[in-house]
Amino acid sequence: MIKKEKIINIGVVGVGHLGQYHTKHFSHLKDVNLVGVFDVDRKRCGEIARKFKTKPFKSLEALLKVVDALSIVTPTPYHKDVAEICIKKGKHVFIEKPITETIKEADYLLELAEKNKTLIQVGHIERLNPALTPLSAFDINPKFIEIQRLAPYTSRGTDVPVVLDLMIHDIDLVLAFVKSPVKHIHASGVSIMTDSVDIANARIRFENGSVASITSSRVAKDRVRKMKVFQQDLYITIDFLIGLTEIYRVMDANESGSAAIMSAPIESGGKQRKIFYEKPIIKKHDALKMELQNFIDSVKGKATPIVSGQDGRDALNVAIQIHNKILEDLH
Ligand code: NAD
Repeated sequence: MIKKEKIINIGVVGVGHLGQYHTKHFSHLKDVNLVGVFDVDRKRCGEIARKFKTKPFKSLEALLKVVDALSIVTPTPYHKDVAEICIKKGKHVFIEKPITETIKEADYLLELAEKNKTLIQVGHIERLNPALTPLSAFDINPKFIEIQRLAPYTSRGTDVPVVLDLMIHDIDLVLAFVKSPVKHIHASGVSIMTDSVDIANARIRFENGSVASITSSRVAKDRVRKMKVFQQDLYITIDFLIGLTEIYRVMDANESGSAAIMSAPIESGGKQRKIFYEKPIIKKHDALKMELQNFIDSVKGKATPIVSGQDGRDALNVAIQIHNKILEDLH
């Protein structure tokens, strides 16, 4: 058990596109000593180490000797093997999303972590998106969620299908909001640029009656990241890219608060009700920095992970079911 006052010695494994930002944040965060980085690409390893004034390690084993915890930011197909080595040495791990490629691998890591009393946190960063902050004022109990995530094509991330690369962010969000077992999944998709599925749509029905419709594409002209949440007397629309959250509520006609009136009175249950509109001011924050600080605080026992290893496994489980449905539909 790590003492709460201890400074956590940390290393980053895989310092490509995203790993460089992990390295940057760990070089500044509270209660952290960035000991070094390891990447199989020696040149990249040296460059990032120089840039953030840390040490490039020649092997994972050497790095493991001097750290308490690690961020694993390698391509997804290597998450399981790297995490396994780290956990077997009793190290806490932050694993970028998706936790692994298969459920078998995820279950293995969760079991291994429990046996070795180490923490697994998963990088489903969208949970910390500032545009979601206003939702904490409401009891979120969605009847219908619609999410769109479209991105221009880049070769990064194409080592896994679009469901495991992009849609899994939204699957994790939906599971965090709906909190009910999945009852039925309908999904279809197509491949356009790669041998794998590049555009996917899934409709998930939950046992509590909620429905989620998610569309993801990595073959789009422009980036889009939008979510709409509908529940009794409440409709919330979020644009994650520009950080815009808009809230429409049906309330008693005299209950306005700061909200603007959007409709004439509606007769409902013998009461005069109206639709009110609010656009909360969103305070910007760096979601990655916050996520990594949460990991450090969790390693120190001062917090619990916002996205646990089990959450990462649950999102992967639904993602794989969706992907399998798409493959069935295609053949
Ligand atoms: P990348 O290809 O840019 O970087 C990966 C790096 O890992 C490379 O420098 C590579 O040399 C190195 N590497 C490969 N195998 C290794 C190994 N066994 N040990 C050490 N280093 C190794 O990839 P990326 O875009 O940075 O993605 C990395 C991970 O982050 C992926 O799992 C991806 O899904 C995830 N990701 C998450 C988000 C998010 O929003 N949370 C965004 C982008 C990527």
